[in-house]
Amino acid sequence: MNNIFSLPPQIQHILQTLEQAGQEAFVVGGCVRDMLLGKQPGDYDICTSALPEETMALFDRCIPTGIAHGTVTVLYEGCAAEVTTFRQESDYSDHRHPDSVCFTRDIAQDLGRRDFTVNAMAMDLRGTIRDPYEGRKDLSVGILRCVGDPDKRFREDALRMLRGLRFSAQLGFSIEENTLRAMERNAPYIEHVAAERVLVELTKALLSDRPQVIGDMIQMGLLNRFVRPVETVELRDIADLPADRQLRFARLMKRLTDCGAVTDTEQTMRALRMDKATIYAVKTALAMDLPHDIVSMKQLMSRADDQTVTCVCALGDYNRLHGLRNAILNSKEPYAMSQLAVTGKDLNGLGIKGTAVGETLRRLLDAVIERPEMNEKATLLEIANHR
Ligand code: ATP
Ligand code: MG
Repeated sequence: MNNIFSLPPQIQHILQTLEQAGQEAFVVGGCVRDMLLGKQPGDYDICTSALPEETMALFDRCIPTGIAHGTVTVLYEGCAAEVTTFRQESDYSDHRHPDSVCFTRDIAQDLGRRDFTVNAMAMDLRGTIRDPYEGRKDLSVGILRCVGDPDKRFREDALRMLRGLRFSAQLGFSIEENTLRAMERNAPYIEHVAAERVLVELTKALLSDRPQVIGDMIQMGLLNRFVRPVETVELRDIADLPADRQLRFARLMKRLTDCGAVTDTEQTMRALRMDKATIYAVKTALAMDLPHDIVSMKQLMSRADDQTVTCVCALGDYNRLHGLRNAILNSKEPYAMSQLAVTGKDLNGLGIKGTAVGETLRRLLDAVIERPEMNEKATLLEIANHR
Protein backbone atom coordinates (compact mmCIF):
# COMPACT_ATOMS: atom_id res chain seq x y z
CA MET A 1 0.00 0.00 0.00
CA ASN A 2 2.95 2.32 -0.53
CA ASN A 3 2.51 3.50 -4.08
CA ILE A 4 1.97 7.12 -5.04
CA PHE A 5 -1.67 7.84 -5.61
CA SER A 6 -2.96 10.03 -8.30
CA LEU A 7 -4.93 12.88 -6.87
CA PRO A 8 -7.26 14.85 -9.14
CA PRO A 9 -5.30 17.68 -10.82
CA GLN A 10 -7.38 20.36 -9.07
CA ILE A 11 -6.56 18.89 -5.65
CA GLN A 12 -2.89 18.67 -6.63
CA HIS A 13 -2.99 22.33 -7.63
CA ILE A 14 -4.47 23.38 -4.28
CA LEU A 15 -1.90 21.36 -2.29
CA GLN A 16 0.92 22.73 -4.45
CA THR A 17 -0.21 26.33 -4.10
CA LEU A 18 -0.30 26.00 -0.31
CA GLU A 19 3.12 24.33 -0.24
CA GLN A 20 4.65 26.98 -2.49
CA ALA A 21 3.44 29.58 0.01
CA GLY A 22 5.51 27.78 2.64
CA GLN A 23 2.60 25.98 4.27
CA GLU A 24 2.03 22.29 4.91
CA ALA A 25 -0.94 20.78 3.12
CA PHE A 26 -2.44 17.28 2.97
CA VAL A 27 -5.49 15.42 1.85
CA VAL A 28 -6.91 13.87 4.97
CA GLY A 29 -9.49 11.56 6.52
CA GLY A 30 -11.95 9.49 4.50
CA CYS A 31 -10.28 10.09 1.14
CA VAL A 32 -6.93 8.73 2.34
CA ARG A 33 -8.68 5.73 3.88
CA ASP A 34 -10.56 5.06 0.65
CA MET A 35 -7.47 5.47 -1.57
CA LEU A 36 -5.53 3.00 0.59
CA LEU A 37 -8.42 0.58 0.21
CA GLY A 38 -8.22 1.04 -3.56
CA LYS A 39 -11.61 2.76 -3.64
CA GLN A 40 -12.49 5.96 -5.42
CA PRO A 41 -12.96 8.64 -2.73
CA GLY A 42 -16.29 10.50 -2.73
CA ASP A 43 -14.57 13.81 -2.05
CA TYR A 44 -11.21 15.10 -0.94
CA ASP A 45 -10.81 17.08 2.26
CA ILE A 46 -7.67 19.13 2.63
CA CYS A 47 -6.00 20.21 5.85
CA THR A 48 -3.26 22.79 6.08
CA SER A 49 -1.08 24.79 8.43
CA ALA A 50 -2.32 27.95 6.71
CA LEU A 51 -4.82 30.05 8.66
CA PRO A 52 -8.14 30.61 6.89
CA GLU A 53 -7.22 34.15 5.85
CA GLU A 54 -3.86 32.90 4.53
CA THR A 55 -5.68 30.28 2.44
CA MET A 56 -8.16 32.87 1.16
CA ALA A 57 -5.30 35.11 0.05
CA LEU A 58 -3.85 32.32 -2.12
CA PHE A 59 -6.89 31.45 -4.24
CA ASP A 60 -9.04 33.57 -6.53
CA ARG A 61 -12.30 31.92 -5.67
CA CYS A 62 -13.10 30.90 -2.09
CA ILE A 63 -16.18 30.63 0.05
CA PRO A 64 -15.70 31.21 3.78
CA THR A 65 -17.86 28.17 4.63
CA GLY A 66 -16.92 27.80 8.27
CA ILE A 67 -14.27 30.36 9.07
CA ALA A 68 -14.76 29.99 12.84
CA HIS A 69 -13.87 26.31 12.48
CA GLY A 70 -11.09 27.07 10.03
CA THR A 71 -12.83 25.88 6.88
CA VAL A 72 -12.65 27.61 3.53
CA THR A 73 -14.10 26.10 0.36
CA VAL A 74 -11.71 26.61 -2.53
CA LEU A 75 -13.24 26.57 -6.00
CA TYR A 76 -10.89 25.63 -8.76
CA GLU A 77 -11.61 24.35 -12.25
CA GLY A 78 -14.98 22.83 -11.47
CA CYS A 79 -13.86 21.40 -8.16
CA ALA A 80 -14.93 22.57 -4.70
CA ALA A 81 -12.60 21.42 -1.95
CA GLU A 82 -12.86 22.11 1.75
CA VAL A 83 -9.56 23.40 3.08
CA THR A 84 -9.38 23.39 6.88
CA THR A 85 -6.64 24.75 9.12
CA PHE A 86 -5.04 22.13 11.42
CA ARG A 87 -7.14 22.15 14.56
CA GLN A 88 -6.98 21.06 18.11
CA GLU A 89 -10.17 20.80 20.04
CA SER A 90 -10.92 21.73 23.62
CA ASP A 91 -13.42 20.15 26.00
CA TYR A 92 -16.78 18.96 24.77
CA SER A 93 -19.19 19.83 27.57
CA ASP A 94 -22.31 19.00 25.54
CA HIS A 95 -20.99 15.56 24.41
CA ARG A 96 -21.30 16.67 20.82
CA HIS A 97 -19.45 19.92 19.96
CA PRO A 98 -16.06 21.17 21.11
CA ASP A 99 -16.35 24.21 23.39
CA SER A 100 -13.74 25.98 21.30
CA VAL A 101 -11.47 25.34 18.36
CA CYS A 102 -7.76 26.14 18.44
CA PHE A 103 -5.70 26.31 15.30
CA THR A 104 -2.33 24.63 15.38
CA ARG A 105 0.62 24.38 13.00
CA ASP A 106 1.07 20.68 13.82
CA ILE A 107 -0.58 18.04 11.66
CA ALA A 108 -0.14 15.37 14.36
CA GLN A 109 -2.40 17.34 16.70
CA ASP A 110 -5.01 17.64 13.98
CA LEU A 111 -4.93 13.90 13.34
CA GLY A 112 -5.23 13.28 17.08
CA ARG A 113 -8.70 14.81 17.26
CA ARG A 114 -10.09 12.53 14.54
CA ASP A 115 -12.41 9.70 15.46
CA PHE A 116 -10.87 6.43 14.23
CA THR A 117 -7.32 5.45 13.35
CA VAL A 118 -8.32 4.62 9.76
CA ASN A 119 -9.75 8.16 9.47
CA ALA A 120 -6.69 9.77 11.03
CA MET A 121 -4.24 9.66 8.14
CA ALA A 122 -3.04 12.45 5.89
CA MET A 123 -1.20 12.31 2.57
CA ASP A 124 0.82 15.01 0.88
CA LEU A 125 1.34 15.84 -2.77
CA ARG A 126 4.12 13.28 -3.12
CA GLY A 127 2.07 10.44 -1.65
CA THR A 128 3.85 10.47 1.69
CA ILE A 129 1.47 9.37 4.40
CA ARG A 130 1.31 10.74 7.95
CA ASP A 131 -0.05 8.01 10.13
CA PRO A 132 0.83 8.59 13.81
CA TYR A 133 -1.97 6.32 15.08
CA GLU A 134 -1.16 3.32 12.87
CA GLY A 135 -4.32 3.57 10.83
CA ARG A 136 -2.69 1.74 7.96
CA LYS A 137 -2.09 -1.29 10.14
CA ASP A 138 -5.72 -1.32 11.28
CA LEU A 139 -6.86 -0.83 7.71
CA SER A 140 -4.87 -3.83 6.51
CA VAL A 141 -6.40 -6.15 9.10
CA GLY A 142 -9.88 -4.64 9.00
CA ILE A 143 -10.14 -3.15 12.47
CA LEU A 144 -11.95 -0.02 13.54
CA ARG A 145 -10.28 1.54 16.56
CA CYS A 146 -10.65 4.90 18.28
CA VAL A 147 -7.80 7.37 18.24
CA GLY A 148 -6.81 7.57 21.91
CA ASP A 149 -8.99 6.54 24.84
CA PRO A 150 -12.35 5.39 23.47
CA ASP A 151 -14.28 6.31 26.64
CA LYS A 152 -13.00 9.85 26.41
CA ARG A 153 -13.62 10.09 22.68
CA PHE A 154 -17.21 8.85 22.89
CA ARG A 155 -17.98 11.16 25.80
CA GLU A 156 -16.58 14.10 23.87
CA ASP A 157 -18.80 13.37 20.90
CA ALA A 158 -21.41 10.66 21.24
CA LEU A 159 -22.09 10.66 17.49
CA ARG A 160 -18.80 8.78 17.06
CA MET A 161 -20.42 5.61 18.42
CA LEU A 162 -22.93 5.55 15.59
CA ARG A 163 -20.25 6.52 13.10
CA GLY A 164 -18.13 3.64 14.33
CA LEU A 165 -20.86 1.07 13.80
CA ARG A 166 -21.71 2.61 10.45
CA PHE A 167 -18.07 2.48 9.26
CA SER A 168 -17.76 -1.12 10.47
CA ALA A 169 -20.78 -1.99 8.33
CA GLN A 170 -19.60 -0.05 5.27
CA LEU A 171 -16.04 -1.34 5.41
CA GLY A 172 -16.82 -4.83 6.73
CA PHE A 173 -14.44 -4.16 9.66
CA SER A 174 -14.64 -5.57 13.15
CA ILE A 175 -14.60 -3.15 16.05
CA GLU A 176 -11.61 -3.39 18.32
CA GLU A 177 -12.46 -4.78 21.77
CA ASN A 178 -11.84 -1.63 23.88
CA THR A 179 -13.62 0.54 21.36
CA LEU A 180 -16.63 -1.81 21.40
CA ARG A 181 -16.77 -2.03 25.20
CA ALA A 182 -16.59 1.76 25.41
CA MET A 183 -19.52 2.03 23.02
CA GLU A 184 -21.58 -0.19 25.29
CA ARG A 185 -20.60 1.82 28.36
CA ASN A 186 -21.22 5.22 26.83
CA ALA A 187 -24.35 4.53 24.79
CA PRO A 188 -26.55 6.73 27.04
CA TYR A 189 -24.62 9.83 25.88
CA ILE A 190 -26.26 9.37 22.50
CA GLU A 191 -29.19 11.41 23.83
CA HIS A 192 -27.10 14.52 23.13
CA VAL A 193 -27.03 13.83 19.40
CA ALA A 194 -29.62 15.50 17.18
CA ALA A 195 -32.10 13.21 15.43
CA GLU A 196 -30.95 14.52 12.03
CA ARG A 197 -27.43 13.25 12.70
CA VAL A 198 -28.76 9.90 13.88
CA LEU A 199 -30.77 9.60 10.68
CA VAL A 200 -27.68 10.28 8.53
CA GLU A 201 -25.77 7.44 10.19
CA LEU A 202 -28.77 5.12 10.21
CA THR A 203 -29.29 5.70 6.50
CA LYS A 204 -25.62 5.07 5.64
CA ALA A 205 -25.73 1.86 7.70
CA LEU A 206 -28.97 0.82 6.03
CA LEU A 207 -27.52 1.33 2.55
CA SER A 208 -24.32 -0.57 3.35
CA ASP A 209 -23.75 -4.27 2.64
CA ARG A 210 -24.39 -5.01 6.34
CA PRO A 211 -27.64 -3.31 7.35
CA GLN A 212 -27.93 -5.78 10.24
CA VAL A 213 -25.54 -3.46 12.11
CA ILE A 214 -28.71 -1.51 12.93
CA GLY A 215 -29.60 -4.47 15.17
CA ASP A 216 -26.37 -3.82 17.10
CA MET A 217 -27.22 -0.12 17.37
CA ILE A 218 -30.58 -1.10 18.86
CA GLN A 219 -29.11 -3.66 21.24
CA MET A 220 -26.56 -1.21 22.54
CA GLY A 221 -29.30 1.30 23.21
CA LEU A 222 -28.03 3.80 20.67
CA LEU A 223 -31.49 4.15 19.13
CA ASN A 224 -33.47 4.14 22.39
CA ARG A 225 -35.06 7.49 21.64
CA PHE A 226 -36.65 6.02 18.55
CA VAL A 227 -37.17 2.30 19.05
CA ARG A 228 -37.72 0.04 22.03
CA PRO A 229 -34.61 -2.07 22.70
CA VAL A 230 -35.11 -5.69 21.68
CA GLU A 231 -32.79 -8.65 22.12
CA THR A 232 -32.73 -9.75 18.51
CA VAL A 233 -34.11 -8.47 15.29
CA GLU A 234 -33.37 -10.18 12.00
CA LEU A 235 -32.28 -7.50 9.53
CA ARG A 236 -29.86 -9.43 7.37
CA ASP A 237 -32.20 -9.82 4.42
CA ILE A 238 -32.41 -6.05 3.98
CA ALA A 239 -29.12 -6.46 2.11
CA ASP A 240 -30.97 -8.50 -0.55
CA LEU A 241 -32.80 -5.34 -1.62
CA PRO A 242 -31.26 -2.83 -4.01
CA ALA A 243 -29.44 -0.08 -2.09
CA ASP A 244 -32.39 2.29 -2.29
CA ARG A 245 -33.27 4.37 0.74
CA GLN A 246 -37.06 4.06 0.66
CA LEU A 247 -37.03 0.35 -0.20
CA ARG A 248 -34.69 -0.45 2.65
CA PHE A 249 -36.47 1.81 5.14
CA ALA A 250 -39.76 0.10 4.30
CA ARG A 251 -38.36 -3.34 5.09
CA LEU A 252 -36.56 -2.02 8.18
CA MET A 253 -39.76 -0.52 9.58
CA LYS A 254 -41.61 -3.74 8.91
CA ARG A 255 -39.02 -5.84 10.72
CA LEU A 256 -38.98 -3.41 13.65
CA THR A 257 -42.76 -3.44 13.86
CA ASP A 258 -42.93 -7.23 13.65
CA CYS A 259 -40.54 -7.68 16.57
CA GLY A 260 -42.22 -5.04 18.72
CA ALA A 261 -39.34 -2.55 18.66
CA VAL A 262 -41.64 -0.04 16.98
CA THR A 263 -45.35 0.31 17.63
CA ASP A 264 -46.17 3.57 15.84
CA THR A 265 -44.15 3.67 12.62
CA GLU A 266 -45.21 7.17 11.70
CA GLN A 267 -44.18 8.55 15.07
CA THR A 268 -40.80 6.79 14.86
CA MET A 269 -40.12 8.12 11.37
CA ARG A 270 -41.16 11.62 12.40
CA ALA A 271 -38.94 11.51 15.46
CA LEU A 272 -36.07 10.58 13.14
CA ARG A 273 -36.91 13.65 11.06
CA MET A 274 -37.46 11.58 7.96
CA ASP A 275 -38.76 13.38 4.88
CA LYS A 276 -42.52 13.54 4.40
CA ALA A 277 -42.58 11.59 1.14
CA THR A 278 -40.79 8.61 2.70
CA ILE A 279 -42.93 8.69 5.83
CA TYR A 280 -46.06 8.65 3.67
CA ALA A 281 -44.88 5.88 1.32
CA VAL A 282 -43.62 3.59 4.10
CA LYS A 283 -46.61 4.16 6.36
CA THR A 284 -49.10 3.57 3.54
CA ALA A 285 -47.23 0.50 2.31
CA LEU A 286 -47.26 -1.06 5.78
CA ALA A 287 -51.03 -0.73 5.91
CA MET A 288 -51.55 -2.59 2.62
CA ASP A 289 -52.02 -6.26 1.85
CA LEU A 290 -49.20 -7.84 -0.10
CA PRO A 291 -50.28 -8.58 -3.67
CA HIS A 292 -50.01 -12.25 -4.61
CA ASP A 293 -50.79 -12.24 -8.32
CA ILE A 294 -51.14 -10.01 -11.38
CA VAL A 295 -54.67 -8.93 -10.53
CA SER A 296 -53.97 -7.99 -6.93
CA MET A 297 -50.81 -6.16 -8.05
CA LYS A 298 -52.90 -4.17 -10.54
CA GLN A 299 -55.40 -3.43 -7.78
CA LEU A 300 -52.56 -2.11 -5.65
CA MET A 301 -51.14 -0.05 -8.53
CA SER A 302 -54.58 1.43 -9.15
CA ARG A 303 -54.87 2.60 -5.55
CA ALA A 304 -51.36 3.61 -4.51
CA ASP A 305 -48.73 5.97 -5.93
CA ASP A 306 -45.46 4.67 -7.38
CA GLN A 307 -43.35 5.24 -4.27
CA THR A 308 -45.83 3.36 -2.12
CA VAL A 309 -46.03 0.45 -4.56
CA THR A 310 -42.22 0.29 -4.55
CA CYS A 311 -42.25 0.14 -0.75
CA VAL A 312 -44.91 -2.60 -0.76
CA CYS A 313 -42.62 -4.66 -3.02
CA ALA A 314 -39.89 -4.35 -0.36
CA LEU A 315 -42.18 -5.83 2.28
CA GLY A 316 -42.41 -9.20 0.59
CA ASP A 317 -40.43 -11.22 -1.93
CA TYR A 318 -39.01 -8.16 -3.65
CA ASN A 319 -37.77 -9.80 -6.83
CA ARG A 320 -41.06 -11.54 -7.43
CA LEU A 321 -43.24 -8.51 -6.67
CA HIS A 322 -41.02 -6.15 -8.60
CA GLY A 323 -41.19 -8.64 -11.50
CA LEU A 324 -44.98 -8.73 -11.36
CA ARG A 325 -45.13 -4.98 -11.44
CA ASN A 326 -42.75 -4.74 -14.39
CA ALA A 327 -44.70 -7.40 -16.26
CA ILE A 328 -47.85 -5.28 -15.84
CA LEU A 329 -46.11 -2.10 -16.97
CA ASN A 330 -44.67 -3.87 -20.03
CA SER A 331 -47.93 -5.62 -20.93
CA LYS A 332 -49.72 -2.24 -21.08
CA GLU A 333 -52.66 -3.90 -19.36
CA PRO A 334 -54.75 -1.13 -17.79
CA TYR A 335 -54.64 -0.53 -14.03
CA ALA A 336 -55.40 3.23 -13.85
CA MET A 337 -58.61 5.18 -14.53
CA SER A 338 -56.78 7.23 -17.14
CA GLN A 339 -56.25 4.03 -19.13
CA LEU A 340 -59.95 3.18 -19.34
CA ALA A 341 -61.53 3.31 -22.80
CA VAL A 342 -64.26 5.60 -21.41
CA THR A 343 -64.08 8.93 -19.61
CA GLY A 344 -66.32 10.73 -17.14
CA LYS A 345 -67.70 12.70 -20.07
CA ASP A 346 -68.80 9.50 -21.80
CA LEU A 347 -70.66 8.53 -18.63
CA ASN A 348 -72.31 11.97 -18.46
CA GLY A 349 -73.69 11.14 -21.91
CA LEU A 350 -75.47 8.19 -20.32
CA GLY A 351 -77.00 10.45 -17.70
CA ILE A 352 -74.56 9.43 -14.97
CA LYS A 353 -73.77 12.53 -12.90
CA GLY A 354 -72.03 13.69 -9.73
CA THR A 355 -70.38 11.20 -7.42
CA ALA A 356 -71.84 8.32 -9.43
CA VAL A 357 -69.30 9.12 -12.17
CA GLY A 358 -66.30 8.31 -10.00
CA GLU A 359 -67.99 5.27 -8.51
CA THR A 360 -68.87 3.91 -11.94
CA LEU A 361 -65.36 4.49 -13.29
CA ARG A 362 -63.97 2.62 -10.29
CA ARG A 363 -66.38 -0.27 -10.94
CA LEU A 364 -65.32 -0.35 -14.59
CA LEU A 365 -61.66 -0.26 -13.66
CA ASP A 366 -62.09 -3.15 -11.22
CA ALA A 367 -63.75 -5.14 -14.02
CA VAL A 368 -60.98 -4.26 -16.50
CA ILE A 369 -58.27 -5.14 -13.99
CA GLU A 370 -59.76 -8.65 -13.80
CA ARG A 371 -60.40 -8.89 -17.55
CA PRO A 372 -58.28 -6.47 -19.63
CA GLU A 373 -60.01 -7.53 -22.86
CA MET A 374 -63.13 -5.70 -21.64
CA ASN A 375 -61.41 -2.35 -22.01
CA GLU A 376 -63.40 -1.27 -25.08
CA LYS A 377 -65.65 1.72 -25.22
CA ALA A 378 -68.85 -0.09 -26.31
CA THR A 379 -68.39 -2.86 -23.72
CA LEU A 380 -67.73 -0.45 -20.88
CA LEU A 381 -70.65 1.83 -21.79
CA GLU A 382 -72.86 -1.19 -21.83
CA ILE A 383 -71.74 -2.27 -18.36
CA ALA A 384 -72.12 1.30 -17.09
CA ASN A 385 -75.65 1.43 -18.42
CA HIS A 386 -76.76 -1.79 -16.78
CA ARG A 387 -76.31 -1.38 -13.15
P1 ATP B 1 -17.63 9.38 4.46
O1 ATP B 1 -17.15 8.41 3.43
O2 ATP B 1 -18.86 8.93 5.15
O3 ATP B 1 -17.69 10.81 4.01
P2 ATP B 1 -15.45 10.33 6.05
O4 ATP B 1 -14.43 9.60 6.84
O5 ATP B 1 -14.98 11.18 4.92
O6 ATP B 1 -16.50 9.26 5.58
P3 ATP B 1 -16.68 12.69 7.07
O7 ATP B 1 -17.88 12.80 7.95
O8 ATP B 1 -16.75 13.21 5.70
O9 ATP B 1 -16.27 11.17 7.09
O10 ATP B 1 -15.50 13.39 7.86
C1 ATP B 1 -14.21 13.58 7.31
C2 ATP B 1 -13.16 13.29 8.37
O11 ATP B 1 -13.33 14.16 9.50
C3 ATP B 1 -13.22 11.89 8.97
O12 ATP B 1 -12.52 10.96 8.16
C4 ATP B 1 -12.58 12.08 10.32
O13 ATP B 1 -11.19 12.17 10.21
C5 ATP B 1 -13.07 13.47 10.72
N1 ATP B 1 -14.34 13.44 11.48
C6 ATP B 1 -15.60 13.58 11.00
N2 ATP B 1 -16.51 13.53 11.96
C7 ATP B 1 -15.83 13.36 13.11
C8 ATP B 1 -16.21 13.26 14.48
N3 ATP B 1 -17.49 13.29 14.85
N4 ATP B 1 -15.22 13.12 15.40
C9 ATP B 1 -13.93 13.09 15.02
N5 ATP B 1 -13.51 13.19 13.77
C10 ATP B 1 -14.43 13.32 12.82
MG1 MG C 1 -16.30 12.46 3.70
